[in-house]
Amino acid sequence: THGVECKGVSKVFQGDGVSTYALENVNIKLEEGEFVAIVGPSGSGKSTLLSLLGALDLPSDGEILYGGSPVNKLNSRRLADFRFENIGFIFQQFHLLPTLTALENVMSPLFARKVSYNKKERAEGLLEQVGLGDKFNSLPSQLSGGQQQRVAIARALVHEPHWLLADEPTGNLDTNTGEIIFERLSNLNREKGCGVIFVTHDADLASRADRIIEMKNGKVISDTRSGAYA
Ligand code: ADP
Ligand code: ADP
Repeated sequence: THGVECKGVSKVFQGDGVSTYALENVNIKLEEGEFVAIVGPSGSGKSTLLSLLGALDLPSDGEILYGGSPVNKLNSRRLADFRFENIGFIFQQFHLLPTLTALENVMSPLFARKVSYNKKERAEGLLEQVGLGDKFNSLPSQLSGGQQQRVAIARALVHEPHWLLADEPTGNLDTNTGEIIFERLSNLNREKGCGVIFVTHDADLASRADRIIEMKNGKVISDTRSGAYA
C-alpha cells in the first residue's frame, strides 16, 4: 500500500545558537487515498510537516514511513526516485519556472527521466484537463494566478504520484478562483484516488476534507475524521 506514517517525528532548526523545535514527537498515520487538511496557527509546524511528508526535507528525529519503509534511510538518488514515484507538490506561490512555457513547466519533472509514455502528449493532456488547452506556449508571467496554479497542478500530476501535497494552494487566489482550484483537488481525490494533503488557514476549506489534523507549537493537538463535520 501507499500509506504514510510519521513515527516520533521531530524537526529542529538551528540558527545563531538558538534551536527551534518546528515539530515535536509527531505521530500520524495516513491511509492511501485520504483527503487530509492540516490546520493551525502560523508557526505551528504545518509547512514543516508537509515538507517532511513529501520527503522534501528529513526529520531530525523519528521516521517517515511510506508503505512501511522508512524514507529517511534512502540516499539522495533513491530519495529523488522515491519522490518521483510518490509525490506531487504544489505551493502557495506556484513556483513555476519563469523562463519555461506552461507545457515545458508541466514536462519539467520528466526531463531527466526515462518513461514509457510520450512526455509531450502526457503534458498536453494534463493541461487540457485543467482547462489550459490553449495556453501551451504561454509563459507564467502571461497567465493569471489561477491559471498558474492549474499549470502547477498539471506539473504535480505529470508523473502520476500517489500523493499530492499542497501548501496553502488557494492562499494567493481570490475566493472564486480558489474554489475552482480546490474543486480540482477534491475531484482528483474522488475520481483518481490520489491522496491529497493540504495545509490551509481556511476553516471552511479544511471542513471539506475527510480528515483534519490540527497543529499547535509543533504538536498534533487533534486529528478528526469527517463524520463530525458532516
Ligand atoms: P507553519 O507552516 O505552521 O506556519 P512552519 O512549519 O513554517 O509553520 O514553521 C514552524 C516553526 O519552525 C516556526 O517557528 C518557524 O519559524 C520555524 N522554521 C520553519 N522553517 C525553518 C527554517 N528553514 N529555519 C529556521 N526555522 C524554521
Ligand atoms: P507560509 O506561512 O506562507 O506557508 P512558511 O511558514 O511555509 O510560510 O515559510 C516559507 C518558507 O520559509 C519555508 O520554506 C520555511 O521552511 C521557511 N521558514 C519559515 N520560518 C523560517 C525561519 N524562522 N527561518 C528560516 N526559514 C524559515
